[in-house]
Amino acid sequence: MSSSAQDQPLDERDTRHLRRAIELSAEARRRGNAPFGAVIVDRDGKVLAEARNTGSETDDFTAHAEMNALRLVSGRHPREVLAQATIYASGEPCAMCAGGIFWSGISRVVFGLDIEGQQRTGKPPEIALSCRQLLGAAPRPIEVLGPCLAQEAAGPFSGAWPRS
Ligand SMILES: [Zn+2]
Repeated sequence: MSSSAQDQPLDERDTRHLRRAIELSAEARRRGNAPFGAVIVDRDGKVLAEARNTGSETDDFTAHAEMNALRLVSGRHPREVLAQATIYASGEPCAMCAGGIFWSGISRVVFGLDIEGQQRTGKPPEIALSCRQLLGAAPRPIEVLGPCLAQEAAGPFSGAWPRS
């Protein structure tokens, strides 16, 4: 799987956390869900939450990996901590999750496979507004870095979608 967008370079710490998100995406897939994983990490590198998509297991269409991770930190960590946290997502967050990230106050997003790359794996079309576009319209700066490790991130997507 190749990605048309240029992979963004990551340091060792970002690489480690994004790889964990990709592992969680593979776990989601193994359990019959859409292949997405997410990890939220504070400024000092402490993991605050790990989650995967549980949509098929729970029949909850909002149970995307990023939303599940955001629910885990909601009310458990001060806003000041979240304001300096990073969310790592195996795939570029959808419009719903990007909105959730905005409301959480998290200020940095690092993602693996971009929306275009996801579509090339046969993922059904969704709202055509990328995380980069949506968070770029936020009233405060939110750093969005991706695609990163796109080849690795694409692995769990391969063959994940029913052919139409
Ligand atoms: Zn989502």
